[in-house]
Amino acid sequence: MKKLYCFLIGLFFLTVSGQQEKLVTVKRQMKLMGTQFEITVVAQNEDIGYINIEEAVSEIVRIEKMISSWDADSETALINKNAGIKPVKVSYELYSLIERSKKISEITDGAFDISYASMDRLWKFDGSMNSFPTKSQIQKSVSKIDYKKVKLDPKSQTVFLQDAGMRIGFGAIGKGYAADKAKEFLMSKGVKAGLINASGDLTTWGTKATGEKWMIGIANPLSKDKVFSWLPIVESSVATSGNYEKYLEFNGERYSHIIDPRTGYPTKGVQSVSIFAKDAELCDALATAVFVMGKDSGLHLINQIGGVEVVLVDSENKIHKSSGIAFDTNQ
Ligand code: ADP
Ligand code: MG
Repeated sequence: MKKLYCFLIGLFFLTVSGQQEKLVTVKRQMKLMGTQFEITVVAQNEDIGYINIEEAVSEIVRIEKMISSWDADSETALINKNAGIKPVKVSYELYSLIERSKKISEITDGAFDISYASMDRLWKFDGSMNSFPTKSQIQKSVSKIDYKKVKLDPKSQTVFLQDAGMRIGFGAIGKGYAADKAKEFLMSKGVKAGLINASGDLTTWGTKATGEKWMIGIANPLSKDKVFSWLPIVESSVATSGNYEKYLEFNGERYSHIIDPRTGYPTKGVQSVSIFAKDAELCDALATAVFVMGKDSGLHLINQIGGVEVVLVDSENKIHKSSGIAFDTNQ
């Protein structure tokens, strides 16, 4: 009897390991949430992989419907429409996302703020601006931004924007959140491994079909297509905020397209920020926040948060990193 059990167990392992050898990697790119997504899954065969990807796409589309401020019927649009008028009851999912967003505002001292969307578009990043706005214009442009005025009532699950004209938007956290949710969804379907990449904000689980770790390359600031260092992303995420494409040059100074919501001025001094943490949502939001906070306060903040790391490139192409990142910046 014992022998039979041993034989059966042996047979079971043989079958399982045999199956593992056949795993395939299936990948698809698509435009979602106004950005390029790439979904990679490790599956038993191609057909299953493609079905899994389809399901993940539906999940991202569902999230987009909830957080889009363009879609007049979204819960987010409804909150914005009722700013200064009345609280709006929303789904538990959106309520929790806003609650977490406010917590990130608190720890970043308002550098990240979903009411950023209330800002007047004062700065132009297409070269059409030939004078600096006045101090009072700048102050006025951010006067409606204040995460403390995004009022949450847990009992009624409502959100109220206190001032008329206030708006919220998820531009700096939504991609990360969608990546996390797509991953969670695929994991719940039994997909053993994959990678969700939302234009550089990405999250992974498991390992590649070959058993190797998912890796991310840190670009060399002096030649962007060369990888400076490879870092493993094991059951975790990374997000990058960078100003390579859009910036504003004024009196020889280069300003980024990211505005400090507390002052109304475009930020400067940072070229790119990559945040490493378990969840893509936190990575996405903190990448924007550290970009706004700048090198010193940004690094200081990240060094205080357990399980979160940063690699920052300043405007002089110098690389800075938090204490838990293991690579040599002097090369
Ligand atoms: P990218 O879209 O390049 O990945 P981010 O993740 O930094 O960049 O998000 C940029 C978007 O987030 C902007 O288009 C804007 O809508 C919003 N945003 C910019 N700055 C802030 C901020 N300080 N707080 C919250 N949202 C912001
Ligand atoms: Mg972001």
